[in-house]
Amino acid sequence: MTNDFQLKFSHWQKYLLDFIFPAACVNCGRVGEWLCARCAGNIRGLPPMCFSCQKYSPQAKICPECADKYFFSRLIAPLDYDQPAIARLIKIFKYHFAYGAAPALADLAFANLPENLQKDLGQADFMTAVPLHRRRLKWRGFNQAELLAQEWSTKLNIKYMAGLQRLRHTQPQAQLSGAQRLRSQQDNFLWTGENLIDKVIILVDDVATTGATVNDCARALKIAGAGEVLVMVVAKG
Ligand SMILES: [Zn+2]
Ligand SMILES: [Zn+2]
Repeated sequence: MTNDFQLKFSHWQKYLLDFIFPAACVNCGRVGEWLCARCAGNIRGLPPMCFSCQKYSPQAKICPECADKYFFSRLIAPLDYDQPAIARLIKIFKYHFAYGAAPALADLAFANLPENLQKDLGQADFMTAVPLHRRRLKWRGFNQAELLAQEWSTKLNIKYMAGLQRLRHTQPQAQLSGAQRLRSQQDNFLWTGENLIDKVIILVDDVATTGATVNDCARALKIAGAGEVLVMVVAKG
C-alpha cells in the first residue's frame, strides 16, 4: 500500500522520464539537479507562524484567536511559494511527472525547518498524506504528497501510513438540499486505516494556500479519533 507509486513506474518508464525531463536547476539551469547546491543555499526559509493570521509562533501553532477555524493544531510550512525557484520546483514536480524532484523538495523544506520543530515532529506517532483523486492518480502516476511524506517520514524516523480516502460525490450539488450540501462539502475524506485513538498525526501536502483541503483531511482524522493533527507542507501559498 505504501509503495504503490513504485509499482506504477517500471524501471524503463523511470528511465524514459529522466530522458524526457533531465534534471536541471530550476533557478540557474545547471544540469544534474532540480535545484543546485548554490541556488538551494540562497533560498530563505519562512519563519514559523500561525497559518491563519500570520502572527509569529515558534511552534507554528494556530493561535487561540484562530483555533476554532481548524481541525489541525499547527501548520508547518518551511518555505514560501512566492519565491520563484520554489514555485517552479513545485510545478515541475506536480505537472511534469518529475517524481525525481521529490527528494530535492523534501530536502530543501527539511533544511529550512527550525530545529525545535524537527524535534516536535519527531515525537508524532505517524505520518499520512492528502490523497489524490483516483482519476488524477492514474493520470499522473504518483501522489506528490505521498512521495513527500515518505521522504520526511524517513528523515524523522516516523512510520508512514496510508489510509485517507477521498469520498466520491455522485449526486450533483444542485440536487442536494442546503443541509445536505453543507454535509457533502464537509465529508470529503474518510480515514480507512488503523486505529487513530489519541494518536498524534502529521498530515502532509505539497502546498497550503487556503488550508481547506488539509482542514477537511484533519477533520476526517479527528472524526476517526486522532488526538492531534499537525500539518506539514513544503510551502505556504
Ligand atoms: Zn542553480
Ligand atoms: Zn492566528
